[in-house]
Amino acid sequence: MSPVLEVSNIHKAFGGIKAVNGVSFSVKEGEILGIIGPNGCGKSTLFNCILGQLDPTEGTVKLDGKEVTGMRPSDLNRLGVSRTFQLLQVFPELSVRENLILAGQEHEGTMLSRFFGRRDAGLTEKADRMIGFFKLGHLVDAKAGGLSYGQQKLLDAAMAFMAGPRLVLLDEPAGGVNLTMLGDLKERLRAINAEQGATFVVIEHNMDFVMSLCTRVLVLAEGKVLAEGTPAEVRANRQVIEAYLGH
Ligand code: ADP
Ligand code: MG
Repeated sequence: MSPVLEVSNIHKAFGGIKAVNGVSFSVKEGEILGIIGPNGCGKSTLFNCILGQLDPTEGTVKLDGKEVTGMRPSDLNRLGVSRTFQLLQVFPELSVRENLILAGQEHEGTMLSRFFGRRDAGLTEKADRMIGFFKLGHLVDAKAGGLSYGQQKLLDAAMAFMAGPRLVLLDEPAGGVNLTMLGDLKERLRAINAEQGATFVVIEHNMDFVMSLCTRVLVLAEGKVLAEGTPAEVRANRQVIEAYLGH
């Protein structure tokens, strides 16, 4: 069976800066792959190249064995791929429920179908299910902008799951989130992985989070893959300790 995601030899340069310098990896169905590495080593740029936000200078991206390099994010959504951003993408003036419904609409269709009054299509129910699942029930009608940072991060993650994606790429979902919410987020991701067989790629700095959640870890340094293995293998890798964990 083809891997769900296969990334081959991705390069991305910004002027003279080689942000991503020949990265390859693949992810099998149901895996939770962690990506770690120092700030500025190219993690977010790699995601942006995979997800159609940026055109890679070189390299290919395949989904289920089919090339999707450069495909637009909205088309990738339709193929079951979703993401969260390092910086929050919630709409501060809208309520928690409205944010989720909007995220669902993005996935469901075109402006045209919305314009012609496509019915709610079960989005409110779906939003309410997601609210329950992410334990945001007491905040349904609260404006997203008034939530704590951690609550906004949870909402952001919930939004990525509105369309029931098979593959989700999360960029630092735990950044700035307190310990309790971190535990909640981890538990939610595990449940979605176990119950729906969803596959995740997670960029994260919080080592405990990565090491306890991920089945495999990829370590980047200066735009390249420095090491790859189980959490235990990566932790014991001398190069990784020197380049990253030791700091
Ligand atoms: P990470 O997510 O690992 O912290 P990034 O992918 O954000 O790293 O950045 C990798 C490198 O590329 C950094 O040197 C950063 O300054 C640079 N970079 C990222 N995005 C851009 C951009 N849009 N234009 C120019 N340089 C960029
Ligand atoms: Mg980043």
